[in-house]
Amino acid sequence: MTVRVRIAPSPTGNLHIGTARTAVFNWLFARHHQGQFILRVEDTDLERSRPEYTQNIIDGLTWLGLTWDEGPFFQSERMDLYRRAVQTLLDKGFAYHCYTTPAELEAMRAAQEANHEAPRYDNRHRNLTAEQKAAFEAEGRKPVIRFKIEDDRTISWKDLVRGQVTWQGKDLGGDMVIARAASSTEMGQPLYNMVVVVDDIDMQITHIIRGEDHIGNTPKQILLYEALGAIVPEFSHTPLILSPSGKKLSKRDGVTSISEFQEMGFVAPALVNYMTLLGWSPTDPAKELFSLAEAAQDFEMQRVTKAGAKFDWDKLDWINSQYLHAMPIPELTDRLIGVWQKAGYDTEATNRPWLEQLTTLLAPSLTRLNDAVEQARVFFTQDLTLGEEALAQLQQTSVPEVLTFITAQLKETPELTADAAKDLINQAVKQQGVKKGLVMRSLRAALTGEVHGPDLIETWLLLHQKGIAQQRLEKAIAKS
Ligand code: GLU
Repeated sequence: MTVRVRIAPSPTGNLHIGTARTAVFNWLFARHHQGQFILRVEDTDLERSRPEYTQNIIDGLTWLGLTWDEGPFFQSERMDLYRRAVQTLLDKGFAYHCYTTPAELEAMRAAQEANHEAPRYDNRHRNLTAEQKAAFEAEGRKPVIRFKIEDDRTISWKDLVRGQVTWQGKDLGGDMVIARAASSTEMGQPLYNMVVVVDDIDMQITHIIRGEDHIGNTPKQILLYEALGAIVPEFSHTPLILSPSGKKLSKRDGVTSISEFQEMGFVAPALVNYMTLLGWSPTDPAKELFSLAEAAQDFEMQRVTKAGAKFDWDKLDWINSQYLHAMPIPELTDRLIGVWQKAGYDTEATNRPWLEQLTTLLAPSLTRLNDAVEQARVFFTQDLTLGEEALAQLQQTSVPEVLTFITAQLKETPELTADAAKDLINQAVKQQGVKKGLVMRSLRAALTGEVHGPDLIETWLLLHQKGIAQQRLEKAIAKS
């Protein structure tokens, strides 16, 4: 048997981290078993579905590297198939037209509530006579189509994550609506549980791996498989992603869509690595960094946990930093150029080696790509604001003399190399009779307006090559 799995997002919003994580598990499972991964866009909710969300979902999956083998299929283009299946259920007596009005349903619900009963449809129109139907039609009632669910049925499956799961038919809310109201001759739009099952049968899906929030749909869907005479696939209900405080992850916890993570400066292999760990652990639990391909080799459903997976920003940041630190400099430079250009920095004003040198300098302190905006500001902007600590540093005794000495010497230095810069600092120490620390701190304050930062010599060289070191030193002398 070839494993066939699918991700079936509804384009009613941007690609959500929960859907993306479900896509990761499906992808890993498919690749582990040399199976097929299918993308199906569930765009039947015509009011809330939007083409830009579909695009965002497709872009997000592509960015994450979750390549699919078939699709995207669009449910909105497959309505005839669903209608035919609903008709089959009507013809076989598994489904029927129900004329109960919204007001009657409301009254039913109110009565159940008054009796402290769970709300359910009471199956009142299951066995209407032709005369009763005709009378409802004459009243102008529009029927929905309901699928029969027997109260005394027990529905059970062996979930690959949760083990044996059992439901009673009586807990499923009565006969289920599978197509919206239209008329008795023209069928209304088929609904979620129905279309999902028809598609999963048609696409020969062998394993349904989806979020735990769908677990209540599964018994209803199993009954539909049976009624349609199809083999019931395996089910895996994966744990939800929870907020750091243990609640369902929501907009209030900050970002939830993949494109927002991208905008914040996370890189795809890091984000996908982190998502893999949300509810799954590798055979070697100490191994935290791996590619999708490595995870696929190791991916077994048995190691998906039942408990909800808490979202941990620190861990994601740590993983992202590891990927950035290990990234080849040319590649990281390309990414940073994008970030810098977005921030309005003129990256064209210098040459590629300078940009790569700057990247090398900043790389070890990057957690997210966007950190490079603040960290590179002093290298791209002409004007420098001296911070309080830098000002205080410049006002210490001997600092004007030290900086004046260095500027004068610089004029004599044809090419500032790392060795020449170190030499200048040592000369200043000797000539001015000051400590090396004072020279270094003063130079940093003058050049960057800060008292902390990355390697001073490299910083100096980069600013010198850009032609802004000298003027900063002169300005600092004036302020010291
Ligand atoms: N369209 C459903 C959703 O976005 C998924 C359906 C399924 O996986 O069965 O939640």
